[in-house]
Amino acid sequence: MTTGYAVAAATERDEFNPFLAMAERFELAADHLGLDAGVRDVLRTPDRELTVSLPIHMDDGSLRVFKGYRVQHNFLRGPCKGGIRFAPDVHLDEVRALAAWMTWKCSVVALPFGGGKGGVICDPRQLSLGELERLTRRYTASIMDILGPDRDVPAPDMNTNEQTMAWVMDTYSMHVRRTTTAVVTGKPLSLGGSKGRTEATGRGVMFSCREALKKLGMRPESSRVVVQGSGNVGGIGAMLLHREGYKIVSMSDLYGAIHNKRGLDVPDVLRWLKEHKALEGYAAAEHIDNDEQLALECDLLVPAATENQITSQNVDRIKARLIVEGANGPTTAPADRALEERGIMVVPDILANAGGVTVSYFEWVQDRMGYFWTEDIVNSRLEQTMVSSFYEVDGMAKKHGVSMRTGAYILAIGRVAEVYRLRGVFA
Ligand code: NAD
Repeated sequence: MTTGYAVAAATERDEFNPFLAMAERFELAADHLGLDAGVRDVLRTPDRELTVSLPIHMDDGSLRVFKGYRVQHNFLRGPCKGGIRFAPDVHLDEVRALAAWMTWKCSVVALPFGGGKGGVICDPRQLSLGELERLTRRYTASIMDILGPDRDVPAPDMNTNEQTMAWVMDTYSMHVRRTTTAVVTGKPLSLGGSKGRTEATGRGVMFSCREALKKLGMRPESSRVVVQGSGNVGGIGAMLLHREGYKIVSMSDLYGAIHNKRGLDVPDVLRWLKEHKALEGYAAAEHIDNDEQLALECDLLVPAATENQITSQNVDRIKARLIVEGANGPTTAPADRALEERGIMVVPDILANAGGVTVSYFEWVQDRMGYFWTEDIVNSRLEQTMVSSFYEVDGMAKKHGVSMRTGAYILAIGRVAEVYRLRGVFA
């Protein structure tokens, strides 16, 4: 008999619950691996979940309490690794799912890490820089008993950035009384960051697109691309794809999308975004709704915003031949099945967006060595990791006659299960 999470998955099934979406893919892969019920329960269940209350002095003199989470899904292959997200809709099941996806992602690209994730319920657009700094420092202090270069190493995620990571590093270092750069990745270069980290997720998405195009016999110059989200992953991904000759016909942000059939001038769009903080008002394109964007005529769709974007509600309107997932969990499990039936190839999140954690791993290694690599070395090692992982996943998918997503889960879960078999249960 299984406990906790398996029962929850059976009784509260919900397309938009990311943890259940992860659990559904997990079961499919576990069936292929022939894992018994007990091992499934161990591997699916988060090892540790911490909820913290964060009292913060606001600029207007008031005191507010925010809620934060850190979930450590699995330590079997090494310290937990995973971002910190600031958003109003953060919830525990989302953080659990993101932590589990990090376990599988690190395993797919064979990094010596488990998976973790953190989140704070807040609307960063409503907070001043000072409030954000106090919130980040208090959150770090509240979870620091479970952090550390050998325990759990956070990184940026939605609405957190290099500055946030600098505050995390400083707060941790002040508490342990020594500068500990390897406690966090995605730091500024001057604080032990790695060259190439900012662009790494977008660059990894670009390598995934390149290899997938080869498989489908498509060429960049004749591929029209729709990119959802214009942040670290979407904005940089669009820029790198544009440089490789793809025609980016649409980009979007939280407030809406822009479309130009002849192709967008991506550097110009990014300049506009930097200055105006939103795509609204950009002149050299037609403005459309976010829903319309996903239904545009295109060859390649790169969802790079957030979870639950391609769902049972809109999957029939997707026209792309290929989807490369820049975001975590952008496709729900029912939508996945519909895409597979229609023969639309999906390069899954746990492979396609693994470039970020790969260069985070390089950053952690460089911090621990105290020796820093050139950008060329970082980028070529990233390329090696992404390309070899792509073909390992492809090989696994072919071997089992399944989609690339299930192939990636089989590869990832199989590696973690093997370590579990070797290590056994500590008592
Ligand atoms: P970000 O905050 O830099 O950018 C998010 C972008 O998505 C913004 O342009 C925002 O306006 C847009 N957006 C948000 N909701 C949207 C919606 N409903 N429709 C259209 N646009 C929307 O975040 P990011 O770091 O680029 O992360 C994006 C996704 O990629 C997340 O799922 C994140 O977990 C995942 N991811 C990020 C990294 C990384 O290194 N940053 C690595 C792996 C995966």
